[in-house]
Amino acid sequence: MAWRFRPFGRASAAPHATPSAARIGRSPTAQPRSLGGARIADDALVARFWGVRGSYPTPRVGAGVVGGETTCLEIRSGRHTLIIDAGSGAIGLGEALASRANATPSQPQDITLLLTHAHHDHLCGLPFFAPLYDPRFHVRFFGPDLAHLRFSEIIAGYMRAPYFPVDFHSLPSRRTLRSLGDGDRLLIPADGEPQILDAATGSSASAPDGALQVDALFSRLHPADGTMVYRVSAGAARLVFATDVEIGAHSADADQRLVEFARGADTLIHDAQYSEEDYNGAESKRGFGHSTPAMAVRIARDAGVNRLVLFHHDPHYSDDAVMELQRRAQVGFPQVVTAREGLELRLELRLDGARQRLV
Ligand SMILES: [Zn+2]
Ligand SMILES: [Zn+2]
Repeated sequence: MAWRFRPFGRASAAPHATPSAARIGRSPTAQPRSLGGARIADDALVARFWGVRGSYPTPRVGAGVVGGETTCLEIRSGRHTLIIDAGSGAIGLGEALASRANATPSQPQDITLLLTHAHHDHLCGLPFFAPLYDPRFHVRFFGPDLAHLRFSEIIAGYMRAPYFPVDFHSLPSRRTLRSLGDGDRLLIPADGEPQILDAATGSSASAPDGALQVDALFSRLHPADGTMVYRVSAGAARLVFATDVEIGAHSADADQRLVEFARGADTLIHDAQYSEEDYNGAESKRGFGHSTPAMAVRIARDAGVNRLVLFHHDPHYSDDAVMELQRRAQVGFPQVVTAREGLELRLELRLDGARQRLV
């Protein structure tokens, strides 16, 4: 089977099925809306969820409010477009980005794509991510080396024969891939090339005005190869993305590293895949590398964050089951929200006086 590239610059350039088929099962809130074509104000950082499930896409269970796509988060601030993970939610995001490029043809179409790790639920949208097929885009990939493979090998290996008909190296977009290690700091200026600072070269340096700062924590709280936790900062806004972590199953030191990394963040997005019953039940989910809402609450409280977002929902859980987990978590930590497709979180870059209530 030979794929042909469609004329460049179209939102439908990625080689998936018909756009209408791709939308079946997606919740109404998942359609591109307020972020489509709009530039986010310079005084805010806005995070939008395009996929919130773990393990695999679940269109039948996810046909309601929570949604069925796997992990993908879009962060916009000023000129920046930063994405964390390319699960199946990245397909809808890619279509929206292509539409925005059509609406703003004079602007550079630069995207920063961070990968936490290489499990399929975090990568399966990548081969169908429209900007890869569009020469107007420059996609800068960052992520960890894993299982003795360089990050660039991991990504390129996901789009090659016999697994996929389009080879990563033949794509018409511009792409750069760089490895991130534990403790690295990525500074992304409003214009120009991002810079990686490691501890030896001054990771204490802070971002200049208009820049995004991303700090990386390599965590062993996920089997078998670990995962990267990211902290995104812009001005006073600070968001931590900690998916695919299992609290309390490894060493206390490993848990505490995550607490310190998240300390004082406005928003902590944390794995909360399993109910307590499923985690501790007859078919225990212990050791799978995922947390319960109670574990996420523990990290949020210890780190003193302002808001906790429950994320990486089990693909079997209905809307009601997911919302029940939120209700239980709110007993221990009132500022809890549940990630769902289309949810947007706004973080102010400047905090005036008392710390803002964010939920
Ligand atoms: Zn996962
Ligand atoms: Zn995983």
